[in-house]
Amino acid sequence: MPTLPELSELERIMELGRGHLNSSIACEVSLGNKRFPVYQLTLGNPDPRLPAIGFFGGIHGLERIGTKVLLYFLRSLVTRLKWDKSLHHLLQDVRLVFMPLVNPGGMSQSSRSNLQGVDLMRNAPVEAEGGVPFLLGGHRISPHLPWYRGVAGAEMEIENQALCKLVQEELLSHPFSIAVDCHSGFGLRDRVWFPHAHNVHPIDHLADIIALEELFQQTHPNNRYLFEPQSLHYCAHGDVWDHLYLQAEKDKSKTFLPLTLEMGSWLWVKKNPRQLFSLQGIFNPIVEHRLNRVLRRHTVWLDFLMRAAAGNDNWMVKGPSRLRMQERGVARWYRS
Ligand SMILES: [Zn+2]
Repeated sequence: MPTLPELSELERIMELGRGHLNSSIACEVSLGNKRFPVYQLTLGNPDPRLPAIGFFGGIHGLERIGTKVLLYFLRSLVTRLKWDKSLHHLLQDVRLVFMPLVNPGGMSQSSRSNLQGVDLMRNAPVEAEGGVPFLLGGHRISPHLPWYRGVAGAEMEIENQALCKLVQEELLSHPFSIAVDCHSGFGLRDRVWFPHAHNVHPIDHLADIIALEELFQQTHPNNRYLFEPQSLHYCAHGDVWDHLYLQAEKDKSKTFLPLTLEMGSWLWVKKNPRQLFSLQGIFNPIVEHRLNRVLRRHTVWLDFLMRAAAGNDNWMVKGPSRLRMQERGVARWYRS
């Protein structure tokens, strides 16, 4: 049996949601005689004509809070399924997909990378255009250094293969889908990053990103989320969401919005970068009241995204105003 508390909690939720929640093992990783399943869960209407949303976390094993936020949200959904008619109603209009712990091997070792020393966010077959920061942008020097991409030309790590398969089957098969991948560890603000990571050019769906941001601002004023293209901070090789976005883009009739939530939780890493790779405390709120606050705050955001996916027809920008929105986005993030 796995000894990871996050995995145990996920298994309890799966048990609680039996009958509503479809769960299966997407792949398994092992360490000595321990085996860690990577679970995928689905609920809601599977009709491929309907919108879909996927929730991902624990890609970086050190960032336990991403998984915790998803488990908190998932437990709340499953509990409400017992009595909440409006939730059942909503689930007739949307497909939900969860992979809350993509890298259980890494989490068992409190490491960012997986058990092979590969950073799953540097491991996809996408090359950055132009320069990337040394090491941080992804490298092939050694699995003993952080941000290692894996061997050139090799297949993606099995955790990434499982993630990509789930996204292709359950999200990209739908006309509209959102993916939200929960991380922690950049600065003091909560940030929502969108592609690209491999170059500094605006994506074709900038108008949709802005529309979604405005919808969130109107629905939940005074929130602390800052929307930005990842490339505003740094470019990187091997970003798995860029990889999937580029695949999705081949079908222009579809919309796929991959978002990365970067929960702002570091204050002192800048002063001692070595702590980045060893201490739990940097990336995860430790004090209980703070943890509870973080869990509650991000549940609002995840719940909003679920509803926004379901109701995308009502807020997506269509026609000529799309171009105007796109230009606003370019002026805001890409001209400086
Ligand atoms: Zn991360």
